Amino acid sequence: MAASSPSSPFSISALAAAVNAGTSATLAVEAALAACAADTTNAIVRIHGARARAAAATVDARIKAGERLPLAGVPVAVKDNLLVEGCGAEACSRILAGFVAPYTATAVAKLEAAGAVVVAHTNMDEFAMGSSNETSCRGPVRHPRDPQRIPGGSSGGSAVAVAAGLVPLALGSDTGGSIRQPAGLCGVVGLKPSYGRVSRWGLIAYGSSLDQIGPFAQDVAGADLALRVISGRDPRDSTSAERPLSVTLPADPRAALRGLRVGYVEAHEAGLAADVRARLHAAKSALTAAGAILVPVTLPHEHVAIATYYILATGEAASNLSRFDGIRYGHRAKDARDLAEVYARSRAEGFGDEVQRRIMLGTFVLSTGFYDAYYRKAQQVRALIMRDFAAVFAACDVLLGPVSPTTAFKVGEKTADPLQMYLADIFTISANLAGIPGISVPYGEGDHGLPVGMQLQAPAWADDRLLAAAAGLEALARG
Ligand code: GLN
Repeated sequence: MAASSPSSPFSISALAAAVNAGTSATLAVEAALAACAADTTNAIVRIHGARARAAAATVDARIKAGERLPLAGVPVAVKDNLLVEGCGAEACSRILAGFVAPYTATAVAKLEAAGAVVVAHTNMDEFAMGSSNETSCRGPVRHPRDPQRIPGGSSGGSAVAVAAGLVPLALGSDTGGSIRQPAGLCGVVGLKPSYGRVSRWGLIAYGSSLDQIGPFAQDVAGADLALRVISGRDPRDSTSAERPLSVTLPADPRAALRGLRVGYVEAHEAGLAADVRARLHAAKSALTAAGAILVPVTLPHEHVAIATYYILATGEAASNLSRFDGIRYGHRAKDARDLAEVYARSRAEGFGDEVQRRIMLGTFVLSTGFYDAYYRKAQQVRALIMRDFAAVFAACDVLLGPVSPTTAFKVGEKTADPLQMYLADIFTISANLAGIPGISVPYGEGDHGLPVGMQLQAPAWADDRLLAAAAGLEALARG
């Protein structure tokens, strides 16, 4: 797959510019609808043809009336945990079968107001729990370059929708890596913004203190544009905030790397597959050659990040998922004898194995007698991890590292061993615990021609600095 350049047909700003100049949004949307219908990777779970055509006609009318829109006519696919009024949204769980959203998520509404057109919902791990898109009730998504392999998860469908060229822009959610990891494995850009930059209103909650919505695009410029549209304070999400994105992408991204202090953690290398390690070395050398200053740093509590995350995330998930009781939404067990049986059987039938495992773990860590030993302790460790990052960003401007220890693995390879699967997120989870932004930038290929992503992270709210550095890294990757 050829890397896109800012002037490629998949450049979001080029498409919006064409539509603003009179090219029909309907044409772009019809092409995306046809591509989604012809998809063979199982990335798409629901196509919204009639709604998308009506929205495209509205965009065309607005342009004709003289409006100029930053995302005019840009087809977008959204993860199945994002609500779009009048459309199904099931978080790829049987328990939400038939649920129709009564309102639209703020991030999606902001895209639509900017001229983007929602064409489809994408496949995902059930309730965003997974790293391979294999826990979906709709079946696994296939990697666009090798159908024997997984695309990563949990936002696997959104990553593939962009990587396979079905749409130029997609939204996912990232609780522990679910945007960055599949973006890295599929060779596209995936951005997890700072916690609070994007409203979570209308996102089906997993771990509310960790969840963030973010974009997938073919290039950093596309992710940057999308972030500027979807961010901002929303009175419906009290954790959202209005913070300026004052730094814009540099005209010469490579030159902007000069003097940039790029931190790296030496210990990260030990756990990497040889092909991923080789790409990390290449990225470090290219950054040094471009004039960046490489700074060794340490994250002393990183080794407990996975354990901390799986206590906090499962505790929050057990609480959030208690609302799915067979009464208010989706699936209800038939022939139950009493109310308790309606609850128990609806949940047993509706939730898949991984979700049930997490509800049990989360209920345990929150229960009387164990709360202090697990949940409270994990909150304390979370504070230490935040402190580690504060020290790191006193010494450097951005932090460079791998996204995943390996390239895309085979379907079924890790499903028998949940702990192995959890380790796939070892490099992405800390950012969610600390609330900082992170981005995955394609950085060449490893063995079997599979994409390798590099991650950059920055202090909370420095998403604009992060994107500028990512644009530089992208320029280096393109040679
Ligand atoms: N793989 C991690 C989990 O299963 C992260 C998922 C996510 O970011 N939504 O919890």
